[in-house]
Amino acid sequence: MTIKLNSGCFKKGHIPWNKGNGVYKVCLSCNKRFYLMRYRLLEGGGKFCSLKCRRAYTKIKAKTFKITPDMAELIGVIIGDGCISKYSHTNGYRIFISGNPIEDKHYMEEYLPRLLKKCLGNEKKPFIVSNGAYVLQFANESFRLFLKDLGIGEKKARTIGIPKKIGRNPILLRRCIRGIADTDFTFIFTKKHNYPRITAQFASDRLVRDIETSLRNFGFTLNTSYNSEIKDKRGYNWITNRIHLDGPHNLRKWMEEIGFSNLRIISRYEVWKKNGQLMPRTTLPERLKELGWQGVVQNE
Ligand SMILES: [Zn+2]
Repeated sequence: MTIKLNSGCFKKGHIPWNKGNGVYKVCLSCNKRFYLMRYRLLEGGGKFCSLKCRRAYTKIKAKTFKITPDMAELIGVIIGDGCISKYSHTNGYRIFISGNPIEDKHYMEEYLPRLLKKCLGNEKKPFIVSNGAYVLQFANESFRLFLKDLGIGEKKARTIGIPKKIGRNPILLRRCIRGIADTDFTFIFTKKHNYPRITAQFASDRLVRDIETSLRNFGFTLNTSYNSEIKDKRGYNWITNRIHLDGPHNLRKWMEEIGFSNLRIISRYEVWKKNGQLMPRTTLPERLKELGWQGVVQNE
């Protein structure tokens, strides 16, 4: 005797006592067929046959991320300004990217959400947290494991470097440095507000060494200082590592070969190009006004 499988809901020897119009699904993790009751389907379940398989899939998916140029830039952003931390009450990890609500407004509201969408498929909007920072926050366990494999984990500030897989490929390396620069570099003008300097300081000397080696290989000239002690406003001593690239030659080369994605820095460059100088302490809205760019940015 044969049972006709007309709806895909029956299998010989398997009696669906639960007559809730369930369906058979294939587990994304172990590829086995399993029966899913209707109420679970309505709840949005049905990807995995068990909790064990759901957990295993996080690890499978972590291996499927590819380091595209966009991904290299996002990794640079996370190296520069990202924070990965565990929430004690849920035991899950969250990834935060933080910026300044005025200067990084466009970057946090427009550019980074697009980059995140391209790399992870997440739609995220930034919000202001209690200390005044502008923050993009998301949880993605597979992505966290992928970052961990690259050497980017919790408590990274003093030990982080550029992942070797990125360092070996000049295209990825340039985009990663751009991401780091967009979040952590500043662009100032010394002498009579007209001599450009691209500069940054980091807690991790390894990161500054990695950036120094990479930029020298690309033909930039630069200065670094390692393990210098600084005192902050509250009187605490910190160890910092600095990097400077001086002069119009380095700047022009940077704009051609690495570039910036953050309007905070792009607008500083454009005002300097237009006027031959940039006065200190300008804000992003002031620079956009100077450039006649307000409308351009909003309508983007
Ligand atoms: Zn399974």
